[in-house]
Amino acid sequence: MKTEFSLAQLADPDIAEADKILRACVHCGFCTATCPTYVLLGDELDSPRGRIYLIKEMLEKDQTPTAEVVKHVDRCLSCLACMTTCPSGVNYMHLVDQARVRIEQRYRRPLTERLLRQVLAFVLPDPRRFRASMWLARLARPLAVFLPTPRPSATPGLIQRLKAMLALAPNRLPPPGPLPGSVFAALGKKRGRVALLQGCAQQVLAPRINQAAISLLTRHGIEVVLVRDEQCCGALTHHLGNDRDALERARANVAAWCAEAAGEGLDAILVTASGCGTVIKDYGYLLREDQAFAADAAKVSALAKDITEYVAALGLEPAARQDSIVVAYHSACSLQHGQKITGLPKELLSKNGFVVKDVPESHLCCGSAGTYNILQPELAGRLRDRKVANIASLKPDMIATGNIGCMVQIASGTSVPVVHTIELLDWATGGSRPALNASS
Ligand code: SF4
Ligand code: SF4
Repeated sequence: MKTEFSLAQLADPDIAEADKILRACVHCGFCTATCPTYVLLGDELDSPRGRIYLIKEMLEKDQTPTAEVVKHVDRCLSCLACMTTCPSGVNYMHLVDQARVRIEQRYRRPLTERLLRQVLAFVLPDPRRFRASMWLARLARPLAVFLPTPRPSATPGLIQRLKAMLALAPNRLPPPGPLPGSVFAALGKKRGRVALLQGCAQQVLAPRINQAAISLLTRHGIEVVLVRDEQCCGALTHHLGNDRDALERARANVAAWCAEAAGEGLDAILVTASGCGTVIKDYGYLLREDQAFAADAAKVSALAKDITEYVAALGLEPAARQDSIVVAYHSACSLQHGQKITGLPKELLSKNGFVVKDVPESHLCCGSAGTYNILQPELAGRLRDRKVANIASLKPDMIATGNIGCMVQIASGTSVPVVHTIELLDWATGGSRPALNASS
């Protein structure tokens, strides 16, 4: 794609990067076929190619984003299916991230929307605030019947979003998991030492996921540390276009993990929420212009691994047989498109005795996508229903996936138990049987 940035514009490293990305696009349109919003809405402007044109125009002309651009960028899930499909290697992720930052900085959203986004950015990354908000949501849920029922719309209003938030809150919260700073010793001969990302929403909604990871890792000779000064990875605010917050969190985490690595050493930083993993693996890029942090951020990105990547290299203990259990494997977008981890979790589950089935249309997002299911409830609901129907066609006993957002989203539309891949692997190798829903 031909671009027309001035030399002065190209002196800005972000614009230079956008120019490189835009020039790689040959506008073939292959990406439209796998884009969930294009599949649902059939509008070119809700396809990757359409959004690329809108972003190009906005950046080239150095425009304040228009309501039209904001609408179509907001509808993008950042699922990155387009990056998997694109034959030209267009890095849509870095382009749309840049567009979101520009929108956040230069576009004045309506007051209610600004407030909602500020509340999400304040509450979600902080486990204590998030836990309190879940209790409040549970108390407020009976009042939802008094809210008017707006017509479903791909341009949702506040009522629709409030209802979506209340619907996603679990009926009960499990007790908190282990405290930051905890160290779990390897059982038997020590083979390695890792940090395990504690996460923010995940540690409130389903601490059992990391408990399963700790159980499996320590049984296999790995010492696990929950690094004390670690924070939310920044993914939630990054996807809201609030880069200042996201980069501050990235810097704090880089400092915390590098201090731990320099102390007792770390073989890896393990992540059980693939949405977080995708962003941590991108810290090296996000902080590339920060002289004080660039080198350490690149080190952290190299150390970051999805839990399945690390576990695959461990060689798991012989499995207790689980042959009769049919597992529908939902491939989280952040894992399959963001980190290009596709076959590995399924292989691990099969090798450990589960009958694993691929979900039809597995490239399509379930609609979770960070805060998307709150901010775009109508589209998210349609994607969830489509995903749940595809899963139901397999008649599974369980659904396994590698991302807490997908677990909550899918569980809100099905009675089939939804578990994390690591819970099944832990169970199959001598750990406890998983509790059977996303919020216990
Ligand atoms: S598939 Fe790639 S090159 Fe083709 S239009 Fe989409 S982003 Fe551009
Ligand atoms: S990230 Fe997903 S929703 Fe956004 S343009 Fe690409 S395929 Fe479409």
